[in-house]
Amino acid sequence: MNKLDLTGLRVITARDLEPAAAAKAEQVEVGASALITPAAKDYAYSKRLQFVRAGGNGAAQATTKSSILNRQSSISSPEALLNSAEAQPIKEEIIRNARKLWTRQYVDGNGGNLSYRIAENAVICTPTLCSKADVTVDDLCLVDMEGNQLAGKQKRTSEIFLHLEIYKAVPEAKGVVHAHPPHATAYAVIGRVPPGCIIPEHEVFVGNVAVTPYETPGTKAFAETVLPYVRTHNTILLGNHGVVCWADTVTHAEWYHEIVDTTCRILILTSSLGAPINRISGEKTKDLLAVKKRLGLPDARYELHECQLCEAPEFPQGITACPVGTGCGQPQQTSQPEVEALVRLVTDEVMKALGERS
Ligand SMILES: [Zn+2]
Repeated sequence: MNKLDLTGLRVITARDLEPAAAAKAEQVEVGASALITPAAKDYAYSKRLQFVRAGGNGAAQATTKSSILNRQSSISSPEALLNSAEAQPIKEEIIRNARKLWTRQYVDGNGGNLSYRIAENAVICTPTLCSKADVTVDDLCLVDMEGNQLAGKQKRTSEIFLHLEIYKAVPEAKGVVHAHPPHATAYAVIGRVPPGCIIPEHEVFVGNVAVTPYETPGTKAFAETVLPYVRTHNTILLGNHGVVCWADTVTHAEWYHEIVDTTCRILILTSSLGAPINRISGEKTKDLLAVKKRLGLPDARYELHECQLCEAPEFPQGITACPVGTGCGQPQQTSQPEVEALVRLVTDEVMKALGERS
């Protein structure tokens, strides 16, 4: 087999692969710890080049395509897996949920992406630059856990690394959905999360939400922003960007988008009603968390006491934001009479200073 030796390079870029493509090589041997850039991985896929890692004992360890599959699988290639009877209902589920995201106006343009981990080292995902209104089963791609595309006619989404970080950190995550639902994204834009103990369904299926600092979409740094939260939160707001949810299925990860966006929408609507929000008590929230635990869903509050459930500020990067005028009661918030007293004091001082000058 025609093979190019790049074991002398610590970082492999797309340009480094051009001689291999020109020589019609089928494999490129790289060092055991060499870093392969995402562009190089895409280039290798487009030229049907296979990376082979040099092993510690000097023997090359081929990252063969069959190694993506579960050991017990009888499926022989990534293409066969992507086109298998097992994959078909999963692909249909991805397309159904892509349509739901678009219909609910949770994605615009080519925004949003969905994936499902079908095998130990194989993830089915949506392609890049494709509206979720138009994407079809035939457009879906198969990637390995490093983001290398293994099968599919279209190029995989550039956001796959976000999904893969979640799959690596949370073994029970099978489906990941990322979209830009407007009400939840409004919270992501101000870097705050919706307060808890407001809507029962939200408490059971979503619970505490985390928010990440902004990073450039598609980068490794962006993908890693979720890591501090993803074990204990199935729903994370992505700073100035959108939302990502994981679940046991793609359908459930889409549901969590609906639930968090509806909660944020209700909170924004309450700001126009001019009355305080009633919070669910800690005691009643404990009941909801018991239901949640039975469903096997994650929540960072399982260890908290009843009295802490609705009063505690929600975790790093998770300062809550209540819509103005709703009085939904975070202790650190300044109350309206306090604000008015402060304004009066400042105004009096300013007027006094002006009077002294004249
Ligand atoms: Zn996005």
